Amino acid sequence: MSVKVCKFGGTSMADANIIRKVKDIIESDEARRIIVVSAPGKRFSGDKKITDLLFECHKELVREGTCKKSFSAVRARFLDIVKQLELTFDFDAVLEDTFVRIEKEKSEQFTVSRGEYLCGKLIAEYFCLPFIDAEGTVFFNADGTLDAEKSYKAVSSAVSKTGKGVIPGFYGVDEEGRIRTFSRGGSDISGAIVARAVNASLYENWTDVSGFLACDPHLVDSPAPIEALSYKELRELSYMGANVLHSESIFPVRKANIPIQIKNTFRPDDVGTTIVPTSRYMPNGRTVTGIAGKKNFTVIYIEKSLMNSEIGFARRVLSAVEAENVSVEHIPTGIDTMSLLIESSELNELKLSRILEGIKCEVEPDIIRVMENIALIATVGHGMSSSVGTSARLFKAIAAAEINIKLIDMGSSELNIVVGVKNADYERCIKAIYGEFFVG
Ligand code: ASP
Repeated sequence: MSVKVCKFGGTSMADANIIRKVKDIIESDEARRIIVVSAPGKRFSGDKKITDLLFECHKELVREGTCKKSFSAVRARFLDIVKQLELTFDFDAVLEDTFVRIEKEKSEQFTVSRGEYLCGKLIAEYFCLPFIDAEGTVFFNADGTLDAEKSYKAVSSAVSKTGKGVIPGFYGVDEEGRIRTFSRGGSDISGAIVARAVNASLYENWTDVSGFLACDPHLVDSPAPIEALSYKELRELSYMGANVLHSESIFPVRKANIPIQIKNTFRPDDVGTTIVPTSRYMPNGRTVTGIAGKKNFTVIYIEKSLMNSEIGFARRVLSAVEAENVSVEHIPTGIDTMSLLIESSELNELKLSRILEGIKCEVEPDIIRVMENIALIATVGHGMSSSVGTSARLFKAIAAAEINIKLIDMGSSELNIVVGVKNADYERCIKAIYGEFFVG
């Protein structure tokens, strides 16, 4: 029988009412047998996520040697849910054990992982399903990367006993048995690991929006929904800031060709977005699937005559950046020019000046210049490779909005055209591209 792994995000766990809806969703399809949960999120704007309250607990613990005060807010949130759901089991005892362990372990990652742990315990009890702790099933290597094979084996053997279960997202253990977390939003990755481990027919990711939209709804009124995306398109869009799903969550499922479906817990009948293997992707008739972007990049522009014939030029330039432990996001090149695009948050004045010195010393450029406050905008879609004139339309639309393009990176996949513009032009540029490809 096919199994669906269902991951529910923080807003789907935020209070008793929505948890009841989640129960209905699970019970409406008997393939939905494995559930991965986030910690309860915000109930209303201005509210705090449990994970953020736990970060405060850790700060208090470091400052005062105890986190009694901050933990009382966590306790109150969970006890309120327990009471509203009329659960009779002793959740007080679970909370107390957790509190004692937080104070003993004194580790930030352990503390913040407890939101998912407690939520998993609570949901398992309410749904009458076995609780499977990520502590014994999700493993990290010494360098912080996922030990994928070990995790798949452990999850699959834990699930095989009953074929059902609730697993907390966001954390696992390292080689020394210490709790480690993924980056923020990482329960999406946990869900994908579990889906891969049990060879699910579908990875359902339940959230508070009805899937991906063609661009940020804060910039354009009711952008077109995206009903289907390929893994590759998803990777490009989520990397560039379309943050419905954690950008690393496709890797485990992609290898096994497991589709992902984004669904809205608050509107379960909405179609949502299905993300399919690139080989199974059916063209949707659109040239562009979606537009996403990010502000605040720094560009290091290098010019040197006959750069193209200087063997090892790129390697030497990049070695100067690597020496500062900084990663480069894009490298558009010309015959005698090269630009390095770096997220500004990776740099400070000192690092930047050391990188510039390093490059000067390595390759003696004719010109080296720095541009800051650059925004990158990605226009993504498989449809672009089969239609002539897409870039002409894109650049014409940007020119018509009187925006100066600082750089272009098109790669060779014809799936993504990235333009760099001033931060100040970011919003207008996205609107112009959306207008060209989606309106009228
Ligand atoms: N609770 C964690 C966070 O707020 C992880 C997650 O929700 O995926 O980032």
